[in-house]
Amino acid sequence: MRRALLIAAAILVIASSSVTLALQRGPVGAPPDLQPTVILISFDGFRWDYPAKAPTPNLRQLMARGVHAENLIPSFPSKTFPNHYTIATGLYPGHHGIVANNIFDPPTGRTFAMAKREEVQNPMWWGGEPIWTLVERAGRASAPLFWPGSEAAHNGVMPHLWKAYDGNVPASARIDQVLTWLDLPAPQRPVFITLYFEDTDSAGHANGPDSPAVRAAIVRDDGYLGALMNGLTRRGILDRVNIVVVSDHGMAPIDDARVIVADDYLSTNDAYISDINPTLGVFPKPGKEDAVYRSLANANPHLKVYRKAETPERWHYRDHPRVPPIIGVADEGWQVLRRATVDAVKAGTIKGPRGTHGYDPMLMSMRATFIAAGPAFKSGVTVPPFENVSIYNVLAKILDVIPAPNDGDPAVARSLLRN
Ligand code: AMP
Ligand code: ZN
Ligand code: ZN
Repeated sequence: MRRALLIAAAILVIASSSVTLALQRGPVGAPPDLQPTVILISFDGFRWDYPAKAPTPNLRQLMARGVHAENLIPSFPSKTFPNHYTIATGLYPGHHGIVANNIFDPPTGRTFAMAKREEVQNPMWWGGEPIWTLVERAGRASAPLFWPGSEAAHNGVMPHLWKAYDGNVPASARIDQVLTWLDLPAPQRPVFITLYFEDTDSAGHANGPDSPAVRAAIVRDDGYLGALMNGLTRRGILDRVNIVVVSDHGMAPIDDARVIVADDYLSTNDAYISDINPTLGVFPKPGKEDAVYRSLANANPHLKVYRKAETPERWHYRDHPRVPPIIGVADEGWQVLRRATVDAVKAGTIKGPRGTHGYDPMLMSMRATFIAAGPAFKSGVTVPPFENVSIYNVLAKILDVIPAPNDGDPAVARSLLRN
């Protein structure tokens, strides 16, 4: 009896020490065959100055270990879909074709919106060659989770692993999903992974960039990064994976007073409005182009109105057939709304937002975030602001794939990467 007890005790000791060992190693142990890997994280609407607004120990650790830009210059228009897809392709929105969150395509007569799943998954909208497509063509696996463009095939190529966007999936489940993908055996294990979190954008729209709600969202975002880094540490691969934190644009405070009512200057008989607030996309009906332009150009000193060919050169927004013939952009802090929206706010049916973006990328309020660390990146380096078209070349270099022709500046990769 005593002998049996002793054997049982010995088995327990051996079993528990192997459990401890397994825990130290993580679920699968540090994979010896880990290839150069990138986890690209987007915190939507995370303005460049947000790390200083709230405690962000994990972002600060990343900055200390790696590189960061004083700020990241978004592309015009400073909206979510155009900029995420610019980061993925290295092309300006006026070149990749996601020219706004809401788009009209004259050749087909189709309209695109973020919530139209069949359009989001329709390859016709998505030009260029996103980074995950290059990875797949090089015979490796990619896993963009909730990245605009990742739900559509590019020349027939889909990422190995992807999911249809669902804003209700909790942040913890997104992080767990990515860690589970990293636990796959080498051939299936993705070398390019993305994560996306809405928190700072949602809080910024609802409450404004200087609100306590935004500070709370900044802290949550930093916590997501911490949770991911903990998962990587448990697997023994924190310092073997490249983490790139970006945002798509910033956020400017707005109120219900600084409003331009589009209906006062534009009739639906004369023009089709493809996109509104704070930009205005206008397709005049045949023969109405000059009249519509004149009416809008004289509407309000806080609304800048351009013919497509006269938009600022730095926007690179003159060529694509989906760029509307007339484009309006409100001044920082101003909105362009439909009368119905203004009335609904006045009636209290909807609450007017307190923050928005979409303005000229040159404005500091529109500037975004770039922070990265890992074996490919220099350490403890701060670089001057650069445009988000340049991120593509950086990712391609780390992943050892040949980038498609793009709008990025190759000098940016040299300033950020070890070699
Ligand atoms: P914006 O209007 O530019 O502020 O867009 C932000 C919103 O875009 C988020 O709150 C999400 O609802 C939506 N969104 C972000 N990523 C995706 C996606 N991959 N698919 C569909 N909708 C998305
Ligand atoms: Zn956004
Ligand atoms: Zn937004």
